[in-house]
Amino acid sequence: MKLLQERIVKDGNVKNGNVLKVDNFLNHQMDIGLFNEIGQEFKRIFSDLKINKILTIEASGIGIACITAQYFNVPVVFAKKAQSINIDGDVYSTKIESFTHKKTYDVIVSRKFLSKEDRVLIIDDFLANGCALAGLIDLVRSAGAKVEGIGIVIEKGFQSGGDMIRSMGVRLESLAIIDSMNAEDGSVVFRN
Ligand code: 5GP
Repeated sequence: MKLLQERIVKDGNVKNGNVLKVDNFLNHQMDIGLFNEIGQEFKRIFSDLKINKILTIEASGIGIACITAQYFNVPVVFAKKAQSINIDGDVYSTKIESFTHKKTYDVIVSRKFLSKEDRVLIIDDFLANGCALAGLIDLVRSAGAKVEGIGIVIEKGFQSGGDMIRSMGVRLESLAIIDSMNAEDGSVVFRN
């Protein structure tokens, strides 16, 4: 997505440790005009899918998922990060290691909001090593529901997550794929 690539070049900040900061338009301040373009692009890419729900993870995925959901006319469920959980039977839970915080979270979704009838589109802001997505897929499958597709705004293609998730046979589409980036000179190279 050209518009997104241009925005990453203009406002993205490459940090040490393979982190791209996009606080100016995606992760802190949110550019809703751009979010609308992103939502429409996901709708175009996944127009053949019959989905009835979008699943994301707090916090950064929520804004993108909500705007995207308006184009699909479906509700959004976000997986919650819990410091500790009581597994009392009314939630599905999984563990996710945070790429940015280097911390492992228990992540939960209420059984009320995910069931075996659900056809789910997973949406998230970034894909790095794939831990967040693997956890979300695990939650969907625990409910007996089906992952119809995964939409990612920015995939860091030089990290392992994309290959790992695609090798699971899940349809994964990323709007911008970064092949390399350099914290020294701030450069970002995109796949085509
Ligand atoms: P993964 O689980 O794929 O390793 O990492 C994905 C999650 O980590 C995303 O939900 C996102 O919140 C965060 N993340 C990973 N890499 C980056 C990055 O370069 N920049 C930002 N802002 N977040 C990232």
